Amino acid sequence: MDNKLALHGGPRAVTAGVADRWRRPIEEEKRAIGALLESGEISLSGKGMPKRFEEEFADYIGCRYVLATSHGHTALASAFFAAGIGPGDEFIHPAYGYIGSYVGALHMGATPVFCESHPEYLLADPDDIEKRITPRTKVINPIHRFGRVCDMDRLLPMCEKHGIVLIEDAAHAHGSEWGGRRIGSFGHIACFSCQGVLPGGKPVAAGEGGIVATNDRELYERALIYCHLHRSGVLDELENPVYRQLDNQLLGWKWRAHPLALAIAQIALRNLSERIDRFSRVREEFYGKIAAVRGIEPVRRYEKSKGAELFGGLQFLVDAKALGGATAAEVAAALRAEGVTTATNEARHIEHLRAIYTKDLPGLWGKGHVGPADRPLPRYKRGDFPVTESVAAISFRISGWIDPAPGLIDQVACAFAKVAEHGEELAARD
Ligand SMILES: *Cc1c(COP(=O)(O)O)cnc(C)c1O
Repeated sequence: MDNKLALHGGPRAVTAGVADRWRRPIEEEKRAIGALLESGEISLSGKGMPKRFEEEFADYIGCRYVLATSHGHTALASAFFAAGIGPGDEFIHPAYGYIGSYVGALHMGATPVFCESHPEYLLADPDDIEKRITPRTKVINPIHRFGRVCDMDRLLPMCEKHGIVLIEDAAHAHGSEWGGRRIGSFGHIACFSCQGVLPGGKPVAAGEGGIVATNDRELYERALIYCHLHRSGVLDELENPVYRQLDNQLLGWKWRAHPLALAIAQIALRNLSERIDRFSRVREEFYGKIAAVRGIEPVRRYEKSKGAELFGGLQFLVDAKALGGATAAEVAAALRAEGVTTATNEARHIEHLRAIYTKDLPGLWGKGHVGPADRPLPRYKRGDFPVTESVAAISFRISGWIDPAPGLIDQVACAFAKVAEHGEELAARD
């Protein structure tokens, strides 16, 4: 067999179709949407389809209270309000993060404090988080990125000890587990996104949508009064005597989910377990096939975590030393030439290097370096988070599969082996 890299004119290792063969049940989606159109139930919350979806999601993850919202963004903003965050408070968020995750807190006048990610897990590093806790820390807001679960055994006790609310960004983590329990069923408050379309969208994708999940009655009621204007029966539902004095326009935001989106989400939820099982089986088989490949390894997972990278794909760490100096970008480019669908962990999620933390933007929000609530924003610079800044250099991703074409994963494994063997040649090219 000609072992020359496709990048250098050799034959491509991957000839099978790379697209996932799994298809979402579009006919079922059309029927569900058609039924809502017939009944006219397309603007409501607290009853009908939205209520049924909330109950079904709560059942699925095993938690008491669930609210369906317009977006993951609005779910997260409601959770920050629920936590009681405001001017002068700090929240800790990974520098390898996402502005959409904490934008609500920014607008409530709270100060972001970024933290480093662990170089082997590429998730918020609990040791680094702990060092950044101050008496003003109100919330820790880690991301279970690509459905891979953060170290909950460290984060939860840390939050309990310091009286901090843990807001899990579970936008990618529907159905992910820690020690056999689903995310959203055992923390303080977790927020999911329903953005995108399957496969490839958030694991319960519905175009747009979000979900707040908690077992804490007070957090639930605060999230509810913040975002569900005109929810049916809301004043009877509320137990807190203070909140019961509001009227059914609550605090004014109308961030409830669209019922048509929830009809799609409900169908995605019903086939989620099957997708996770199949994806995980194929992933483990693939990892077995590349176990002997030196220099390219799956990103580490915590023992107790079980997730499926239905959104984002499989992540790999590149050991440049073992590959004669080849970087993750060079490896990914060589794999792409072999026919593998790859993606780099690019810079757009490096929070501390955003313009709002590194540049003067006079007049954007107010005088001086302030945020949207007229509170000073922290200043950051390149070099503040070395692991985060190196993510693109040390890691890359490929899309995983629920239903790969026959022979595909063998071919992708061959591509990995071939590229790893030629590491030196890749690095030598620059
Ligand atoms: C998608 C996503 C969200 C929420 O996004 P919406 O598009 O508002 O649903 C939050 N955090 C992360 C990490 C995400 O990827």
